[in-house]
Amino acid sequence: MYSQSQTSRGDRPRCKVCGSEDVIAKINGEYYCAKCGMKIVLEHSRKIVESYERKYLG
Ligand SMILES: [Zn+2]
Repeated sequence: MYSQSQTSRGDRPRCKVCGSEDVIAKINGEYYCAKCGMKIVLEHSRKIVESYERKYLG
């Protein structure tokens, strides 16, 4: 059934931040779980908004 050369250990992607195996997103080549991925996306979009504000209001 199981061959020794085929271990699943290390095969599964883990969240880069917290190490969770429950990854849902790959950002910049790194895996992230829902919680950490959301944080990164929010942080990223906030930077975009800030740059827009500088562009149009500054
Ligand atoms: Zn995480």
